[in-house]
Amino acid sequence: MTAVVTAVDVTRGYPTRHGRIRAVDRVSVTVAPGEILGISGPSGSGKSTLLRLLAGIERPDSGTVHYAGQPAWRRSRAAGYPRPGYVMPIFQDPHASLDPRWPIWRSLTEPLTAPGRPRTDGAGLRAVAAEWLERARLGHLDPTARPGQLSGGQCQRIAIVRALVAGPALVVADEPTARQDVITAAAITELLAEAAGHGTALVVVSHDTVWLDTLAHRTHRMDP
Ligand code: ADP
Ligand code: MG
Repeated sequence: MTAVVTAVDVTRGYPTRHGRIRAVDRVSVTVAPGEILGISGPSGSGKSTLLRLLAGIERPDSGTVHYAGQPAWRRSRAAGYPRPGYVMPIFQDPHASLDPRWPIWRSLTEPLTAPGRPRTDGAGLRAVAAEWLERARLGHLDPTARPGQLSGGQCQRIAIVRALVAGPALVVADEPTARQDVITAAAITELLAEAAGHGTALVVVSHDTVWLDTLAHRTHRMDP
């Protein structure tokens, strides 16, 4: 089976006052459809940087990233590749994924309106939003609320649902259960496991190795 994402020997550094630091140093990972790869490691070990490399948000200094066997980067980011919505990131700061001006139903369903997808009208999108809010235990929220009216944990769950709603090939999630209580963390675990059950490949970062072991099929530990 073709891997959804494969990184080989990726390295990424950043300039600092004390010279260049290597946030990620020659890391190789591969994830198959329906597989959940956990990433653990201490703070500063490069977990978030690795996710940005896997999501194609940043380009490695050396090494390669392939999506379904195709290079993510050639001379520049290949136009139109991978297809819109192939990879969906869930950032640590949920506000980074949500437009503060948009009602939450619109942010949540936006991936369904990507070019090339069948058109769904506003009523259809609001119905999908209502269904997913329920699944994320947010059924009590007003779908027209703005992110500013929600708690950080609620925004995070909206961002998670937004990443999953259109059935992406790959989801990368940075500490998705941080800021959540035990019950909502369980709901998130269920949503992520269900997405994998439908064939989505997931890369999930957490410092909570006990939780990660319950969710992930394999774990890659980043060296400090
Ligand atoms: P983790 O998520 O495991 O805590 P990060 O990937 O955030 O680790 O960071 C790894 C190292 O790279 C840290 O030393 C961090 O300060 C540095 N770093 C990460 N992103 C940047 C950036 N955009 N600019 C400069 N340094 C960065
Ligand atoms: Mg991090």
